[in-house]
Amino acid sequence: MHLDKEILAGLIEGSPYPMYLVLGDELRLVLANAATLKAWGKDSSIIGKRLIEILPEFAGKPFGSLMRGVLTSGEAYHAVSVPISIELEGQLKTFYYNLSYQPVKAANNEIISVVCHATDVTQLVESADNISRLGLEAVENNERLATINEALAATNEELAATNEELTESARLLELSEVRFRNLILQAPFAICVIRANDLMVTEVNDRYLELVGKKRSSVDGKPIWDAVAEAAEVYAPVMERVIQSGQAFFATEAEVVLIRNGSPEQVFIDFVYEPVTDLSGIVSAIMVVGIDVSDKVRSRHAIEEMEERIRLAVEAAEIGTYDLNYKTGELVGSTRFDEMFGLGHGVTRETIIDHYHPDDVHLSVLAHEEAKNTGQIFYEARYLREGFPMKWLRFQAKVYFDAHGNRLRTLGTVMDITAYKALQQQKDDFISIASHELKTPLTTLKASLQLLVRMRENPNTVLFPKVIDQASRSMDKITELVDDLLNVSKINQGHVGLKKDWFNLGEMLEKCCIHVRESGSHDLILEGDTSLMIFADEHRIDQVVVNLVNNAVKYAPDSKVIFLEIEEQADRVKVSVRDNGPGIPADKLPHLFDRYFRADEMGTQVSGLGLGLFICADIIKRHGGEIGVESKPGEGSKFFFTLPIGETVKEI
Ligand code: ADP
Repeated sequence: MHLDKEILAGLIEGSPYPMYLVLGDELRLVLANAATLKAWGKDSSIIGKRLIEILPEFAGKPFGSLMRGVLTSGEAYHAVSVPISIELEGQLKTFYYNLSYQPVKAANNEIISVVCHATDVTQLVESADNISRLGLEAVENNERLATINEALAATNEELAATNEELTESARLLELSEVRFRNLILQAPFAICVIRANDLMVTEVNDRYLELVGKKRSSVDGKPIWDAVAEAAEVYAPVMERVIQSGQAFFATEAEVVLIRNGSPEQVFIDFVYEPVTDLSGIVSAIMVVGIDVSDKVRSRHAIEEMEERIRLAVEAAEIGTYDLNYKTGELVGSTRFDEMFGLGHGVTRETIIDHYHPDDVHLSVLAHEEAKNTGQIFYEARYLREGFPMKWLRFQAKVYFDAHGNRLRTLGTVMDITAYKALQQQKDDFISIASHELKTPLTTLKASLQLLVRMRENPNTVLFPKVIDQASRSMDKITELVDDLLNVSKINQGHVGLKKDWFNLGEMLEKCCIHVRESGSHDLILEGDTSLMIFADEHRIDQVVVNLVNNAVKYAPDSKVIFLEIEEQADRVKVSVRDNGPGIPADKLPHLFDRYFRADEMGTQVSGLGLGLFICADIIKRHGGEIGVESKPGEGSKFFFTLPIGETVKEI
């Protein structure tokens, strides 16, 4: 631009818009119109100063370099809406300007200055900004609206879907209710659903009706405690607690007496009161699920009872039990088992067998071998332990096998049969004695009969009566023996009855032993109150006295006198038979009244079955009396018995 300085100054100053002129590379302000001073917030003192001094806030901004670019290139620079921050009244404010930097040439065509012309477009820019912001907002709002619309559409869809779902849910609910009802009806256990607020039965299956023994009409739709009134006392409070607490109640093998089809029955039931809650968590119903376990409980009780009975029997019979494991060889015995062997707990089978009588050791081996086929063990062996009498033991056991037939274990019992064996022995002895005893009079009787047969042809009047007497005595002896045997078997079978009546005891004692007096071998002396009357079985008491007197004759043959004594003691009478015979050793005394007992076992000179005193003792005991003996070797024996005199004592 080639303009006269004056004209340029006039142009600049006359412009209503900010115009100024900077000079040289240092951009020194040469001219600035009032609009410029106003825009910058300065006065005319700034003229002649460098632009950077006037507007230090321009430091770092491109304006300086743009102006210098115009100076060097000579090309004008234009820009619109350039934001320029200027400090006004101490505050940095941003304005927008349309800028125009024009080069000014000197006369020599050299570019020496730049005319800067700025148009404030701040308001315009801000309006445009506002418009664009509003536009943006509108767009945003539009977008938002669109989103909302979409969301609404989606919600609508969802609502529709939810509606569908609800319909489906309702259908499923209905279905599940049907299923639930079917489940209840077909369940293999008793189910009853009771409404919580009025305890009305809303569902009930046949099993439940069976369990409580009621008709459907009296349970379905009825208050539960009207339907099953007999259980109300105990279970109504329980159900109430479940409703209040929401906690289920479980009962196992509850014993209940139910009125089943009109009659009371004791039953055992496993049942649960299950609370059914609604969506708000309140108990709306109680589901009773039960099962009748009476059979199970009764069978278990029966088994327990049986076990108890077996246990008692095992204890009473003093049976030892044991469990032998074939694989480990472990032997576990009961307390009684251990006691029987006296070798402590945990003893081995081998140790026990070591104590067997040498002749019996093989019996155990044999029995176990045999059991491989039969599954049963049975044997009896003698057991010897130092310092103790020999024992007879009986082993009875069952062997258990695995699937391959191998022996697993043996469960068994052991019994001390020493006493039984002794009795067995006594019986065997008795049989031989009885045969022997019978044989003697039978032989004599036979001989007498043979003599009599021979005499039939040629009767011998001297011998004849003697032979008859002999035969008769033999017959008496046989009768006596057979009577004893019969008496014992009657006692054994409990068939001995008493025929009691009042009789004179003294008279009976006089008469009963007439055979002894007649034989002349012994003198019988009767002492005491011979007029005493007693109430008893005369025949049986006679039998007792004869037995005692006969024994005195038999076992005290040298005692010339036998004393019979009657002593009255309050309501009893004591009768004793005393001899001056050899007496009886003290160790034999307690056994004299036992069956088959003979004090002189080896004695052959005196015959007897060892039954007489046993029979006497039984007769006296049946009368409610006592029998006993006092004796010392060399000082004779006194056998006695007591009897109640009157009728007061009941016979046994
Ligand atoms: P038995 O039939 O053998 O005589 P008892 O039961 O009558 O049987 O007697 C049992 C045993 O008591 C006899 O074997 C005998 O040894 C002994 N006894 C019984 N009475 C007497 C007595 N008066 N004096 C000595 N011993 C007697």
